[in-house]
Amino acid sequence: RTILRCQRQLSRAYATAAPPHALVFLEHRQGVIDSGSLSALTAAEQLGGQVSALIIGGKDHVQDVVHTAKKLKGVTSVLHSSSPQYVHPLPETLSPLLESLLSKSSSFTHVVSATSSLAKSVLPRVAAKLDVPAISEVTSLSHDKASNSTTFTRPIYAGNAIATVRAPASIPVKFFTVRSTAFSPAQLQEGAEAEVVAVNPVQVNDPVTEHIKTTIAKSDRPDLGVATRVVSGGRALKNAETFEATLYPLADVLGAAVGASRAAVDAGYADNSLQVGQTGKVVAPELYMALGISGAIQHLAGMKDSKLIVAVNKDPDAPIFQVADVGLVADLFQVVPELVKKLKT
Ligand code: FAD
Repeated sequence: RTILRCQRQLSRAYATAAPPHALVFLEHRQGVIDSGSLSALTAAEQLGGQVSALIIGGKDHVQDVVHTAKKLKGVTSVLHSSSPQYVHPLPETLSPLLESLLSKSSSFTHVVSATSSLAKSVLPRVAAKLDVPAISEVTSLSHDKASNSTTFTRPIYAGNAIATVRAPASIPVKFFTVRSTAFSPAQLQEGAEAEVVAVNPVQVNDPVTEHIKTTIAKSDRPDLGVATRVVSGGRALKNAETFEATLYPLADVLGAAVGASRAAVDAGYADNSLQVGQTGKVVAPELYMALGISGAIQHLAGMKDSKLIVAVNKDPDAPIFQVADVGLVADLFQVVPELVKKLKT
């Protein structure tokens, strides 16, 4: 009986085996594709099959994004849909479109997106409707065409352990979000010209939620999420004035983004949008400078994949030194101004 069951399962798996075809939800702001979505494209390309990009929004911006997306490496087709409801998409307005694209006749085997606020609520919602799981914050993947299964790794316990999970053939559409620091952003490719397909929007009458406004923190500095250099400060910075007076000159001279520990954010030294860590942003720049940050695991969860970590701390036993490539036991109020002076000359 066991053999029969195995045979039945195997034949079902092969019956549903389809070449991978990923639908990647591309998010954009004012017509510029988010860097996280470009990383999601790279992840989708690694599945080894077709990659369709889905772009939604108001008419003007969608056309700009389509123009760029069809020239991106790995993209085989671009689906786009415009509607006033997609200018500020909500899970309630976007999910029906995804559901209709994933209707039974579709060839999509994977649905992929960056780990964004919108995707975190849309993907599990649609996956639940299809009665399949959604896998979040994927950092690597491989797809086995023979068994039609995809294996993912994802950090758990604030990055202290890595889980390897497999979505077998019995899951017809595999949903996953991608940790953008783990995949390089897809680049424009000369000569690339993906097929472009317009998709009718799915109008939702009287959605239960309504978009009121979006407030975006404005800064002349590089965006923390994608900056190649980050200078971060912790509780040791004392207050908002010393945080700014000490860190900003260093960030300026390095062309770096500014980050902060949660203690610094909670104490009002820095804006919430600058928080790095488990409950803040996850960054992996070329250079991460941790100034007066102890190195709690929740902070490390957001920066320990940085290529070069430099830490300045008065306490030689501070845990940050366990992950630092370059560590200086010193008072940051002496060291940082000196460093700025040297970098300027
Ligand atoms: P502290 O731990 O107080 O460290 C300050 C450091 O500055 C000390 O090591 C001290 O030796 C050093 N110092 C003091 N004066 C000087 C000086 N003059 N020169 C040099 N060094 C000096 N934290 C995050 O950062 N990000 C998160 O996303 C996050 N999420 C969390 C989620 C949960 C559920 C929980 C429970 C906690 C979270 N935390 C997070 C908080 C985290 O546990 C720590 O409390 C926090 O990271 C500490 O911040 P800090 O290193 O700035 O402060």
